[in-house]
Amino acid sequence: MKKILLLLLILFSAVFIYIVLLFIQRPDYEELNFVHKRFAQLVHDKWETKINSLPKEERAVVDYDILMDELNYFERKFAQKLFSINPNDIGFKGPFYSREKPANLVKIESVKVGKSEQESETGIQYCPYQSYLNYERMMKKMEDDIGMRLYIDSGYRSPGRQAYLFFYYLVTSSEFSLLENAKWIAMPGYSEHGHPINNAIDFINEDGINGFSGNQTAKDFEVLEEYNWLQANAHLFNFYLSYPKGNPYGVEFEPWHWHWEVK
Ligand SMILES: [Zn+2]
Repeated sequence: MKKILLLLLILFSAVFIYIVLLFIQRPDYEELNFVHKRFAQLVHDKWETKINSLPKEERAVVDYDILMDELNYFERKFAQKLFSINPNDIGFKGPFYSREKPANLVKIESVKVGKSEQESETGIQYCPYQSYLNYERMMKKMEDDIGMRLYIDSGYRSPGRQAYLFFYYLVTSSEFSLLENAKWIAMPGYSEHGHPINNAIDFINEDGINGFSGNQTAKDFEVLEEYNWLQANAHLFNFYLSYPKGNPYGVEFEPWHWHWEVK
């Protein structure tokens, strides 16, 4: 009996040490090990629950520290471990922008888009004042020209929001591959959505087409008349396509993502 207990103790100790070793291991960029996957899922679940519990106007600008406070010691260590990776090492070639909150954010009310059975909401969004002003002028011109307009699917995002989205995509669509995730979503500080001045806007049209929700692909946005109009006119309002096909930043083609910049 004693022997069996001793064997069990050795077995459990070995499994425990194995799990600890996997936890402290450097993350595998191709695919996280099963312990890291579990922690990624836990972080995602806790952050999603927290964000959904917040008032709607706080969700796009949730504080990074508030999200970190939701995690236990090991989950927090894991999240910090991922965010301490140099984005260049996982394929993102863009610069660091900022983690500062802009002083002049304009609040934009949520808009319902899409056909009745697939209706969705943009959620309450924010944009720095100058880019919002130019966006409104641009939309007025678009309506005059082609009788259509685009809505703001995502404007300014706080580092907290960006952190949540990084885990959201890692868990739900990148199959726990950091290399795959970096093609779609930046780490906190490296997203143009966090830029205090040259902020990016992800557009969505009246029918709910944004090029990435559900089963949509970039092609769905690329063929829109609204996209065609943007290509010809957006620069007149200081908006520029950030990630065209074959861009040098290691980011996939994003026809919906335009940043504001006075050149
Ligand atoms: Zn974007």
